[in-house]
Amino acid sequence: MTTLSPLTVSVPDRLLLGSGPSPVPERVLRALALPTIGHLDPAFGTLMDEVAAGLRTTFRTQNAVAIPVSGTGSAGMEAMVANLVRPGDRVICGVHGLFGERMADELARHGATVVRVEAEWGRAIPTAALVAAAEDPFAAMFVVHGETSTGVAQPLDGLAEACRAHDALLLVDCVTSLAGHPLDLDAAGVDAAFSGTQKCLNAPPGLAPFTVGERALERVRDGRVPSWYFDLSLVLGYWTTDVDAPTRARAYHHTAPINLVYALAEALAMVREEGLEARWARHATAHEALRGALAVLDLHRLAPDGEQLHPLLAVRLPDGVDDVPIRGPLLTEDGIEISGGLGPLAGRTWRIGVMGEGANPEPQERLVRALAARLGRDPGEALDALSAGWAA
Ligand SMILES: *Cc1c(COP(=O)(O)O)cnc(C)c1O
Repeated sequence: MTTLSPLTVSVPDRLLLGSGPSPVPERVLRALALPTIGHLDPAFGTLMDEVAAGLRTTFRTQNAVAIPVSGTGSAGMEAMVANLVRPGDRVICGVHGLFGERMADELARHGATVVRVEAEWGRAIPTAALVAAAEDPFAAMFVVHGETSTGVAQPLDGLAEACRAHDALLLVDCVTSLAGHPLDLDAAGVDAAFSGTQKCLNAPPGLAPFTVGERALERVRDGRVPSWYFDLSLVLGYWTTDVDAPTRARAYHHTAPINLVYALAEALAMVREEGLEARWARHATAHEALRGALAVLDLHRLAPDGEQLHPLLAVRLPDGVDDVPIRGPLLTEDGIEISGGLGPLAGRTWRIGVMGEGANPEPQERLVRALAARLGRDPGEALDALSAGWAA
């Protein structure tokens, strides 16, 4: 796809329709290939301000702090926990898939007392269960808004109220949902959230969009952040969303991944041009169209109606269909990547990304044709269902 030809490295042509990374549009790759400038260059500072503004719009927040943490989505998780959770804190953690499990592990490593509220993989956690866990005093509640391991969206309604009653923070992983599934952080009363660039934003992996509200920032000011790299009181000296001293010069903390920030800026411009709500609607249409087409091939969605995560369609494998003998050649011969199941769903599901550029008729048509062929099925009826879904 890229027009630049490197000297030695070569990579195969791939259509990325798995759980991420997602397809990176050519204009984002071009931004990535711009000349590297210095991390303290005022011109880069201007770009940083643009990126922060774009993140605020995309997160739907007025928070002063909206920055890309240097590192992948999981670095956003580290930044969140290191800054906002202290040893001995009681933290309610929703677990309904791999990423909730990961957070429960992370919280325990930081010395928190983890109160797990679980649902089976493939279902949302009932709000009432989370609210019930919030009866005794606690410091924070964490949920995964878009559980990429199962394709389930977790409703956020009612959680902020339960948290406020104990002056606890509401913390959210929106790695897969950001810019692909309806999400309004301020309306939902979320205190801090992290994401990743390689899902619905269609930028390469390597940055973690991260936002923290005023209530949560209070916790950072206790000077007890155990991580040097992720300590917001230091990082913000560079990103200068320093509310107390807005005109202060940017201070070196670490060398920002300059070119990744270019790529993110271009990706955010694409979100702005399309409009966030139009983008959410396109993902909803793409999800439903592909769900209809795959159902014709007996690949039925795991998530029940109303619990689906638009950017990630997880489908059950029909009896007699083996995962790897199909998913393997789909990648190596057809050049199409989809993801296998995880945890209890390993070998029993496929996870198909409906993310950004991938949420369009052309890539979906290519996938449906190739999958039908590998399953020994005629693609006609499935392709009809796909176009009907897009026409709806
Ligand atoms: C991808 C993902 C992560 C982890 O992001 P990395 O970029 O792989 O570190 C965390 N949470 C969810 C929900 C994800 O989909």
